[in-house]
Amino acid sequence: MTDTNQRHKERQQKVKEKVDAKVAQAQEERGVVLILTGNGKGKSTAGFGTVARAVGHGQNCAVAQFIKGNWACGERDLLAGHGVRFHVMATGFTWETQDKEADTAAAQEVWQQVKQELADPAVDLVLLDEITYMTNYGYLDLDEVVQAIADRPREQSVVITGRAAHRRLEELADTVSEVRPLKHAFEAGIKARKGVDW
Ligand code: ATP
Ligand code: MG
Repeated sequence: MTDTNQRHKERQQKVKEKVDAKVAQAQEERGVVLILTGNGKGKSTAGFGTVARAVGHGQNCAVAQFIKGNWACGERDLLAGHGVRFHVMATGFTWETQDKEADTAAAQEVWQQVKQELADPAVDLVLLDEITYMTNYGYLDLDEVVQAIADRPREQSVVITGRAAHRRLEELADTVSEVRPLKHAFEAGIKARKGVDW
């Protein structure tokens, strides 16, 4: 073995020891709260990817979409066909027409359904897509959302997506990832694309 190869092997061995020690330390088994936030593209995609992962294991999943009710959405069509329950704001929040009363009513309607999912021990995973806007704009009560997530069944996991996640949601979460935009096609005048953006 060459010297370089030997040094590489020793370094890798040290990395492996550290990783093994961490794996051995992680013994707690329970559901987690995952937040995907930030201004870059990929938050909802990753949220739906997590649902697809759970569905692949035969788990029981629900998705709440707090925006984009009437929009086409490839993952909704796919996952609904695999038994995932969707709770969608039929009317209400869009970027163009912000009518606080109508939006609040629409958000509350979805929230009533979400609360049942968050209280059901038979549910493995709940995706709350774009819920950060609902609490930031006061359409949903932040205390109530935090409480319902904190009180969920022990084995249930929750994924939250949306920009500017509130500090209290981040405190509650076990994993928080921020997607940072380095570049986006839209900035170069390229239209949002079916299969890529929705
Ligand atoms: P996606 O649904 O593609 O995973 P996202 O959930 O991270 O995106 P949102 O803020 O929910 O991002 O925005 C949804 C739409 O806006 C998508 O069509 C996405 O391509 C587009 N988008 C996301 N980030 C940016 C950005 N930095 N600039 C312009 N458009 C963006
Ligand atoms: Mg999104």
